Amino acid sequence: MWLPSHNDIDVRGRRVLLRVDFNVPIQKGKVTNDFRLRMSIPTLTELRHRGARLIVISHLGRPKGRRVPELSLAPVARAISSLLECDVRFVGDVLGGEVRAAVAALEEGEVLMLENLRFEEGEEKNSLKFAEELAALADVYINDAFGTLHRRHASVVAVTRFLPSFAGPLVLKETGVLLRVSTSAERPFVVVLGGAKVEDKIGLVEKFIKRADRVLVGGAMAYTFLKAEGIPIGNSRCDEGSIEKVRRALRTAEEKPNTLLLPVDHMIARRVSRDARPTVSRERIPDGHIGVDIGPKTVELYRAAIRTARTVLWNGPMGVFEMRQFAKGTEAVAKAIGRSRAYTVLCGGDTISAVESYGNIDRLSYVSTGGGAALEFLQNPRLPGIVALLEQED
Ligand code: AMP
Repeated sequence: MWLPSHNDIDVRGRRVLLRVDFNVPIQKGKVTNDFRLRMSIPTLTELRHRGARLIVISHLGRPKGRRVPELSLAPVARAISSLLECDVRFVGDVLGGEVRAAVAALEEGEVLMLENLRFEEGEEKNSLKFAEELAALADVYINDAFGTLHRRHASVVAVTRFLPSFAGPLVLKETGVLLRVSTSAERPFVVVLGGAKVEDKIGLVEKFIKRADRVLVGGAMAYTFLKAEGIPIGNSRCDEGSIEKVRRALRTAEEKPNTLLLPVDHMIARRVSRDARPTVSRERIPDGHIGVDIGPKTVELYRAAIRTARTVLWNGPMGVFEMRQFAKGTEAVAKAIGRSRAYTVLCGGDTISAVESYGNIDRLSYVSTGGGAALEFLQNPRLPGIVALLEQED
């Protein structure tokens, strides 16, 4: 897919409005997972070396147009400053006199970071007025916020009306990797889908049943599939609203036998709580129990499928991995993917932190910074942020 690239322009001495996705977890004023920040360091370093005057913008959480102190980007600016090993000036506003003065004072290669874009009502409303005011700060706009490309927001879409607009290095890289996987993956191609949001992922299950050699389903998602097949699932989490779509995916799977794999056993518990001890259950989950992880036979089955793969795409955990005793399936799958010689791609925010804690994230070929954006891109690459870059007026 061709996108206007940051390489197509000379940024030296120019004020570059750089949209990044610094939506990272923060606790007590400290960034607790800096994966997305680290992934943007090459972009920031490159543009600094090319002499840009960088105005970095991002959102954080969902303040809904209000100023929420806990969602300030100040801690992120500090973290970026230490990762970049240079001073990053932070202004606690998105627009206004202080921002304009800080922009005017920017030298070549310097970095200024503005406050959370979502403190402004215009951001999520894709307001032209807000976008125009934002654009007035800069000469050029670069979008490097892959994780936000699916949002029709002012700093992603409307802003491209007012500035020459380009895709940044991370956006080019991520779109390239995901396109390769979704259109020309080397076979055998194995897709592993877990987590809970059936609604968001059911389209992908169906698409990959047609395109991949194996689709392994785990996590809470699996119970909606089992229920649709008439298998008792006890009190496991189930998305009743998606049952019809799941039935359709199951019919598609019938036309391509042995492609869709569902858990054949489970780890179950009476409650999802830290003190609960899971036990193994066969495919049918007894009343009063909840499926919290894939079982040992399923782990073996999924491991074997991953072992033969030349390409693996993974999104979503195999169980309630936030609790250590329910994380074995996710850990086993992470390790199998880490050991594989295949081209391996992981997308999805939650799973990234899990895999980081198992210590094998470096062994994957690519880890996408986008959760929702990556899933939507895999279904249809024409995300609002991409279309905006493609359709800007000359
Ligand atoms: P998603 O955002 O769709 O990738 O879902 C991630 C969430 O799914 C995590 O917070 C997991 O705790 C949750 N999850 C995975 N497996 C289960 C399960 N068996 N029951 C309930 N929640 C689950």
